Amino acid sequence: MAALAEKRTQFGTPEEILTGLIALASSTDGIDIVVAAHEGFTYAVNARNPEYEILADELAALASAYLQAIRQRIPGGEVYARVVMGEYEGKAILVADVGEGFTFLAMGEYAGVKAIFDPVLRVIEGKPFKCPACGVVLDIYAGRCPGCGRLVPITQPTCPFCGYTVSSRPCPNCGKMLSLSVSRVELARPGGEAEEEQVEGAEEVAVVRVEPPPRVRAARRLLKVVIGSAVAGIYFVSTYILGVSPATAIVAGLVPLATVFALLLSEPG
Ligand SMILES: [Zn+2]
Ligand SMILES: [Zn+2]
Repeated sequence: MAALAEKRTQFGTPEEILTGLIALASSTDGIDIVVAAHEGFTYAVNARNPEYEILADELAALASAYLQAIRQRIPGGEVYARVVMGEYEGKAILVADVGEGFTFLAMGEYAGVKAIFDPVLRVIEGKPFKCPACGVVLDIYAGRCPGCGRLVPITQPTCPFCGYTVSSRPCPNCGKMLSLSVSRVELARPGGEAEEEQVEGAEEVAVVRVEPPPRVRAARRLLKVVIGSAVAGIYFVSTYILGVSPATAIVAGLVPLATVFALLLSEPG
């Protein structure tokens, strides 16, 4: 129990969170540089690709500016997403608000940056995937994809580079086989199937589900309705321009448009 509690508090402060995020991003393929910053100034740098080292201070300032801009764009100044992705100098970037003026930025090819998004978000929100057996934070480790050999976060079931999907992996700390899915990590049976094994102290860490907050869901739904309406609008304007009679356009477009709406409004996962 003491060991477990110790491992849990290893992510207490922004500095500790940053250490974990740097460990993950620095060992994931496709990422050229990782910059941790405090109040816009460089705090730690790891350039996997040395060419990018000269960008460190610029990226530290960019991370702060990025989060400021996002806060200003959201009415009321509230930040929903503490982790955002964007583009800079033709590369993908991920910027995370670690708290207390600390920011984290990773820059590289899209697949590599996208691969660390979910683990970074979980660590930032204080809800990382942990090993149900030993309690170690799994979201800061990368491992080789059996399909293409590239290093990706071990909590990612699908490789962002080649699409290979793994259903289980050993815990990097205790070696127990873990069953992986997008929303959870649990102990795997020797046969490979998931098992809800009872481990002392594991009830708090066994299963972590990731659900967007209700306001985000509502905003997504609204966005979907707007997109659906825009598709319908473009369709009818196009048929009008092409001289198709409105009755024919409605009959011909009914099924495809209804399908678009049904697809948009269906809840993912
Ligand atoms: Zn792969
Ligand atoms: Zn373990």
